[in-house]
Amino acid sequence: MTNHLRRALLPALVLCSLLSAFPQLSAQQPFVLEAVDGQRWMKGNMHTHSLWSDGDDFPENLAKWYRDKGYQFLVFTDHNTLLQKERWLNLAKRKGSDKALQRLREQWPAEWIEIRGTGDTEEVRLKTFDEIFAKLAVPQEYLLIQGEEITDRFGKLPVHMCAANTAELLPPTGGESITDVIQQNINAATARRERTGVRTLVHLNHPNFGYAITAEQLMKVVGENFFELYNGHPGVHNSGDEKHAGTERMWDIINSFRLQTLQLPLMYGLGTDDGHNYFETASGKGAQPGRGWVVVLARTLEPDAIVEALEAGRFYSSSGVSLQAVRFNGSSLKVEVQAEADVQYQIQFIGTDRGFDPESRTASDKPEEADTLTRVYSDQIGKVYATVAGPVAEYRITGKELYIRAVVTSSKRHPNPSEAGEFERAWVQPIAIKGP
Ligand SMILES: [Zn+2]
Ligand SMILES: [Zn+2]
Repeated sequence: MTNHLRRALLPALVLCSLLSAFPQLSAQQPFVLEAVDGQRWMKGNMHTHSLWSDGDDFPENLAKWYRDKGYQFLVFTDHNTLLQKERWLNLAKRKGSDKALQRLREQWPAEWIEIRGTGDTEEVRLKTFDEIFAKLAVPQEYLLIQGEEITDRFGKLPVHMCAANTAELLPPTGGESITDVIQQNINAATARRERTGVRTLVHLNHPNFGYAITAEQLMKVVGENFFELYNGHPGVHNSGDEKHAGTERMWDIINSFRLQTLQLPLMYGLGTDDGHNYFETASGKGAQPGRGWVVVLARTLEPDAIVEALEAGRFYSSSGVSLQAVRFNGSSLKVEVQAEADVQYQIQFIGTDRGFDPESRTASDKPEEADTLTRVYSDQIGKVYATVAGPVAEYRITGKELYIRAVVTSSKRHPNPSEAGEFERAWVQPIAIKGP
């Protein structure tokens, strides 16, 4: 290269080296969640049980409860069941159903309730999805979505997956391992979606229920991009224990490996109720409704639009905190809370750096337990990049991050938590950061 040419190229060379030192963040798509331009926040619960399976109330009572509480949508997800056929519930054989019938009588006119037989053979007809929809759905205000909880297992371990927006039952497929059970159910749902064009969304439920599913087993599943980060059932161990990683830890492990090693899309974390118990229980510890939900940003309240928004990451999950906006402009992530009076907020920005240490060790010395526990990784995974006090916080991307997400924790205790001492929270979904 002549001196002349070198001089001519110098500014370009300097610019190139600057660009390689600083990642090209401007190439990243901006991502803004805010209720503007005809978009609305829509609150919904995607995991609900009724008397069609092991819930203890009639589905129309539940649909009314969620509508009265200001939800915009509710997905019915009874175990391996759609609310479709003619079905009569024997009251004498179903413990506690007298309370549900009483509530039915209080809330609905006599002609709505169909009863046959008397005494031990007295039966109430369970209303179908279409009947409940016709009675309770309000166009663009309140939507009911047909779904099911695909209730599968591997050996004794429960593998449950909620399918939302489905007109036909997806029977559990089974499989050769935990990962294979999830994968085969996903494949069946995906094949049907491709065949019918109906946008069914399948999410993995409560991985820590029965401590059935580890982060390593879940991260590999192709086509499963959602799991329950927060499930309101008190028996599902969202927080894990000394030996078992909590779901939030699992989330960071899963996404770190999906982005860096497995070349799979981010997995999103949902908040759901998984309600079963709609009456006061003696212990007060039932799986009650109103604990966890998603808030989806969409233009229209239709099943396909809700699924489309969820798949595009246009939502957040919550156990009490509401967000005003999430703004990612390529170089920073800003979170704005809909602040309540006299409530304090802490916003944490969490992620994992590119090139993190992937080494891990087993969480137990017992060889027979090793593969049943999420492994222990370095704290390079799920690093807290910043903690900010207040209802608005902004984090400047350095470019080292594989992904960035945020958690808002309120100073307000959850009024009816699934785990003692919970504070209300909101989870901003992770955003993948493009590398240099
Ligand atoms: Zn379940
Ligand atoms: Zn369930």
